[in-house]
Amino acid sequence: MSETKRVLSCIQPTGDMHFGNYFGAVKNWVKLQQTYTCYYGVVNYHAMTMPYNPKKLRNNTWELIFNLLSTGIDHERLFIQSLVPEHAELSWILNCFTSYGQLTRMTQFKDKSAQSGEQGGEGFISAGLLNYPVLQAADILIYRPSFVPVGKDQEQHLELTRNIAQRFNNQVGKEYFILPEPLFTEVPKVMSPADPTRKMSKSAGDKHYINLFAEEKRIRKQVRSAVTDTGDTPEGEMSAGVRNLFELLKAGEAMDAYQSLQSDYEAGALKYVDLKDAVADTLVGISEQVRARRAELDANKKEVKQQIKASTAAIRKEAQQTIAEVKDLAGLMNVRF
Ligand code: AMP
Repeated sequence: MSETKRVLSCIQPTGDMHFGNYFGAVKNWVKLQQTYTCYYGVVNYHAMTMPYNPKKLRNNTWELIFNLLSTGIDHERLFIQSLVPEHAELSWILNCFTSYGQLTRMTQFKDKSAQSGEQGGEGFISAGLLNYPVLQAADILIYRPSFVPVGKDQEQHLELTRNIAQRFNNQVGKEYFILPEPLFTEVPKVMSPADPTRKMSKSAGDKHYINLFAEEKRIRKQVRSAVTDTGDTPEGEMSAGVRNLFELLKAGEAMDAYQSLQSDYEAGALKYVDLKDAVADTLVGISEQVRARRAELDANKKEVKQQIKASTAAIRKEAQQTIAEVKDLAGLMNVRF
């Protein structure tokens, strides 16, 4: 029997997890575990590319681990990047197989370096910001996955990863790295309740995201005050706000409510308050489940942290195997594990 195909995906520890992250990424990760051998990394090295607070980084890293476990991610599939220092080592090696010009043309580098002055970075652009797609290539290639789930914004980075892998393979004369394929899964794009023309995100401020772990009262309040119709929607079209509320119902798998409210909409009889109540009930239901699981995990904090350190150590063995082979191929002396 052939080995189950591997999938690799990573997430940065940047604080609260919102329904956009959950419906747009994490829920899919939970599902992928049934079909693939998954590697899910909490990539704390990546959270350093822009000016950041070191004290917060450590807390955010554990916070994200606990949140991911609460959503149903299996602890054996999770690792913390900085506990696998081979990522950084491979990153250096791969830097030498990466085109500098290609890095400077990355859309995210261009966007983020333009933003850095505005966000208190005083115009400081770290070399890490330029190089982080190489670290990302190392994160991926070190586990030799067949697939990487990607959204549109990450397609360019996966292409770079494939270019780097190809260049390495060519230069060492061996098809060593598997060129990972993108795994496109249909995931919703969740919009901000306060401005449904923009993505739900933390960076825009508190009212632009609904925390997956928020108190019921807060979730209901945010849904109740969600923008429905700003009056500039063309005749006969569903407004962005209403569409987003329907999307949330669908994403939360509240299909009965979705269908009956769609029928109301088509008949011109939709009451926004009914739609909002249904969305709030759905989100609160999901939130209650993850919060209950989170409370259990919080009651065993020490054990959970130990488990994650152990799963990281097991995953690290695979990274060590890869780095040893890569160093051999690259003509570097090796530490034997
Ligand atoms: P971020 O914290 O922005 O790096 O996002 C982590 C993951 O959540 C990425 O896979 C994003 O594509 C996904 N994500 C973030 N915001 C949204 C959103 N509003 N709708 C759908 N997916 C999202």
